[in-house]
Amino acid sequence: MNPVSPVDLHLHSSASDGVLEPAALVAHAAGCGVRFMALTDHDTVAGLDEAAAAAKRLGVILITGVELSVDWRGRALHVLGLAFDPAALPLVRGLRLLQAERLERAEQMAARLTAAGAPGDAALELVHAAGQLPTRMHFARALVTLGAAKDAATAFDRWLARGRPGYFAAKWPTLAEATGWVVAAGGSAVIAHPMRYPLSAGARRELCAEFVTAGGRGIEVITGGGGIRNADQAIALAVRCGLDGSVGSDFHDPAIPWNPPGRLAKLPGSVRPVWAGPPFPEFETDAEPA
Ligand code: AMP
Ligand code: MN
Ligand code: MN
Ligand code: MN
Repeated sequence: MNPVSPVDLHLHSSASDGVLEPAALVAHAAGCGVRFMALTDHDTVAGLDEAAAAAKRLGVILITGVELSVDWRGRALHVLGLAFDPAALPLVRGLRLLQAERLERAEQMAARLTAAGAPGDAALELVHAAGQLPTRMHFARALVTLGAAKDAATAFDRWLARGRPGYFAAKWPTLAEATGWVVAAGGSAVIAHPMRYPLSAGARRELCAEFVTAGGRGIEVITGGGGIRNADQAIALAVRCGLDGSVGSDFHDPAIPWNPPGRLAKLPGSVRPVWAGPPFPEFETDAEPA
């Protein structure tokens, strides 16, 4: 099992599809040994103020963060924005677009679910009642509540995954556009969980090359539940493309015991930590020798 990493730059709160409220998330992460963290909710920074206040109380360093939904060659990928100014206008405007797209997609998903014989309208009501920016995870939970699936994973397999009846392809901004918003806000952009996308090795290298051209800085080489083989491939990709490395659990839910905040392998010495130097605040970590 991996030791605890004091750095975790990919965590979710109830501002998107995480289970814990922002302050409770920070307290949970701190309790797990995390001391330098980013809250990275899907397409929203709504949890950051509450998280920052909690971090201050607990003596944890909290970096601004967000996980942006982007389109690359017709596929939805995730780009983390880290250590940016959340008041910067290009990013604020971009987040507004993403949030409108999420609300519109929720309507379309509900209609598709209903057409396919699932309780789409009731699910949409539950999703809105949750009062958060809707994600497919909210629909998965609603379908479980309504008895249309036994658990969230089944809801995705049966209804919500790409190619399933409730899936609606949102019009996300392009990889280059969204990366540009983070850069314009003075932040670092990082490709999230690069090995989770069903891409060929060649396509993954092209993705990284385009990302670098767009101003992207890093790639998440250590990710929660990612496994050693994936990490090795992501490390090779980082070295080859000249990207810095990031580490993040992608934590959503304390009921999933195998992926707590901070249970992450160390970044190898061959990859520069994305958080070493500006725009990140100072933090001492000891990297493994190369
Ligand atoms: P969205 O960004 O709204 O499409 O929702 C994506 C979120 O749903 C991800 O961040 C995961 O938390 C979750 N998710 C996506 N695919 C699956 C899956 N197959 N099983 C469980 N959760 C998933
Ligand atoms: Mn999620
Ligand atoms: Mn993601
Ligand atoms: Mn995530």
